[in-house]
Amino acid sequence: MSANPTYEELASRVAFLEEELRRGQRKYLEPIKDAMLTGLAVVDAQTRRVIDVNAAAARMIGLPQEKIIGRQCHDFMCVERRDQCPILDIHQHQDHAERDLRRDDGSRLSILKTVTSQTIDGRDVLVESFIDISDCKEVERQLHEKERFLRSILDALTFPFYVINTADYTIMLANEAARFGTLHPDATCFQLTHHRVEPCRGDEHPCPVIEILKTGQPAHMDHIHIDHQGRKRIVEVHGFPIRDEQGRIRQIIEYSLDITERRQAEMDLKQAKEAAEIANLAKGQFLANMSHEIRTPMNGVIGLLDLLRRTTLSEQQERYLELARTSSLRMMDIINDILDFSKIESGHLNLEPAPFNLRELLGETLRILTVSAQQKGVELFYHMQRDVPALVDGDAGRLRQILFNLIGNAIKFTAQGEVLVEVASGRAPSPEEALLHFAVHDTGIGIAKEHQESIFHAFIQADGSATRTYGGTGLGLAIASELISMMGGHIDVESAPGEGSTFHFTIIVKRQSRQSVEEEQPLPAPATSQLSVLVASANSVSRRLLGDTLREWLPLVETVNNAQAMLEALRRHPYDVLLLDEQLEGFDAATLATRQAADGGGPPAVVLLLPHDRETDNGDRPFAVAAPLPLPASPADMLAAIHAAADKAGKTAVPPAGPADREAAAGQAGVPQKRRILVAEDDYINRVLITTILEREKWVVTAVENGRLAVDEAETDAYELILMDVQMPEMDGFAAAAAIRAKEKGTGRHIPIVALTAHAMKADRERCLAAGMDDYISKPVEYDALFALLEKFLPKH
Ligand code: ADP
Repeated sequence: MSANPTYEELASRVAFLEEELRRGQRKYLEPIKDAMLTGLAVVDAQTRRVIDVNAAAARMIGLPQEKIIGRQCHDFMCVERRDQCPILDIHQHQDHAERDLRRDDGSRLSILKTVTSQTIDGRDVLVESFIDISDCKEVERQLHEKERFLRSILDALTFPFYVINTADYTIMLANEAARFGTLHPDATCFQLTHHRVEPCRGDEHPCPVIEILKTGQPAHMDHIHIDHQGRKRIVEVHGFPIRDEQGRIRQIIEYSLDITERRQAEMDLKQAKEAAEIANLAKGQFLANMSHEIRTPMNGVIGLLDLLRRTTLSEQQERYLELARTSSLRMMDIINDILDFSKIESGHLNLEPAPFNLRELLGETLRILTVSAQQKGVELFYHMQRDVPALVDGDAGRLRQILFNLIGNAIKFTAQGEVLVEVASGRAPSPEEALLHFAVHDTGIGIAKEHQESIFHAFIQADGSATRTYGGTGLGLAIASELISMMGGHIDVESAPGEGSTFHFTIIVKRQSRQSVEEEQPLPAPATSQLSVLVASANSVSRRLLGDTLREWLPLVETVNNAQAMLEALRRHPYDVLLLDEQLEGFDAATLATRQAADGGGPPAVVLLLPHDRETDNGDRPFAVAAPLPLPASPADMLAAIHAAADKAGKTAVPPAGPADREAAAGQAGVPQKRRILVAEDDYINRVLITTILEREKWVVTAVENGRLAVDEAETDAYELILMDVQMPEMDGFAAAAAIRAKEKGTGRHIPIVALTAHAMKADRERCLAAGMDDYISKPVEYDALFALLEKFLPKH
């Protein structure tokens, strides 16, 4: 090449170099273009035909590159917008938008496309680059779906629910029930819920947002809201914080419940409850008064009939008197049942627990009921298992009432056969308590299945017809079952018509901290505990009970049911004592007498069983009777009779020391010769009655008719005790007692005052004690209980 090239040479060299450059560029650019994941297409701006396309675009379209080149760009892109090319038709400089790409198989692909117009080699072209965004589109669709789902849930809520942005109090989200309409992005909670122009400061009403920002905890509070109809509503607002990753509170969820109706109902309920309480109080008061009004005259009637009984009467008068007395006692029972039932209704029935001896209570109760059993020819038995604690703490009076009802019913509904009362102990909730299980079996008319539940309801009787055979109010079982549940127990019945019934019930009592073993158990005297006993009775229940009970105490006890078996047993073993029921099949008094004579009046010593409570048996018999045993008998009675019989027959050396003897010994210390008592009682009949009865017990009585006179009289200091009625004119018993106590102050004197009240309410007892009285006794007065109580307050002479 010459040193000074010509223009042509230079031009040819430049052209050569440009060609080389282009080739070089192509060499590098082509592979880069095809390696890109972004689709690239170059379109001629005149013809709108594709003049170049990269591999990524060909993949997206689904055709080889050479089959795309030369085709109209609208065959693949902006298919529906042929005349609306943003650059060529709308003359934008650039287009950047989500579009659809039509693939060769007709399916659509979502793409994000950027188009710019260029001039390359003097040719106007569109350079289109695009990426596949179908995955993003699917995620977006799913997000929308989720949002729509959540939205439906929120809109389904019938109470307002919204989310507050804590930065500016704007509402970010609200459901339909919030009634905020279309949410403006600037709408705030204070505008929408309180119609304010600036945020609340929390001084006019409690604000959950302020509270949550202060404590960081969810907040719940009541608000007054004005609803869209301008009505005042009470709403319960609940707020919960939403925190960001750093734990800062960014939003607060609030929802509110309209509790206007609930609050109104609560208020109505409260008012109704207050009204009911007032009514109940009035009912209680009425009850107390009625109790007083009825008991006072009844006290007079029963007491005077009692007094009359002790006077000389003709046989006919005695009969009439007995009828009148039975009727008044029956009336008293009915009144007591009605009063108890009213007390249950008004929630005034309370238990009055005190220590008592269960064995004695059972014995006494059964002894009283034996009279009615005898009159019907029904045998009455009882058995208390040895492990049942006798010294317990509970409401003895109420337990007696339950037993009276159940055993009384058993006798009432049994024409023939027997009534058996059993007491066992069960598993108690704690070692200080005892669970007592009572069962009252009878062989009476039974109860049909369909009545077995309803008889425990008030006023319900299995035979409710007007022509029914048995009287009664239908209240007894309702009261008993209420008392039993108050004592922590349960009652139920097993029965079949014609086959008798068994009423079971349990109660929980406290065990007394044991004072001595003898008080707890009727231990036989040491000499008795070695005796052998033969029980001969035709009655299977009696035989079983005597046998089972005695076996708990004595080493050898045999039972037989007929005379032949008895004689055989006596031949086999020289029994010390024979418990004999004269109704025994094949019994021949002469044979027994012969046997006794052969033995030189020796064994067996005969204890005669008296099933019909013939305490004294004066029948002449050829054989010797060592002791009678009226049935039903407690273990202590049985042991005492056996001991007495054996003693008489010279079988024991040690005198008995059973509980009965201790009682007798205590009784001898009894009421001393003459005691002065002041009685304050306004009712004339009752005053006469109580004076007469006390005087017969060798008391010297001064009776006054009101509290004021009692206070004056008490000042004379001539009395050892005051019996004070509670309701009296001029000055009542409470005021009189308080006045007496006030006068005694500083003198060291304290005269015992016992209240005499017709009010059977528990609260009365507390009032009596609060007024300074020492104890109380309720009317109608049980005189034995009164004497025992008076004695308690007298110093022993
Ligand atoms: P009352 O005996 O005063 O009618 P209760 O409440 O004591 O009231 O008894 C309700 C009813 O239950 C009785 O009327 C009777 O129908 C039935 N009933 C109770 N105890 C027995 C029993 N031992 N045998 C048969 N029926 C009984």
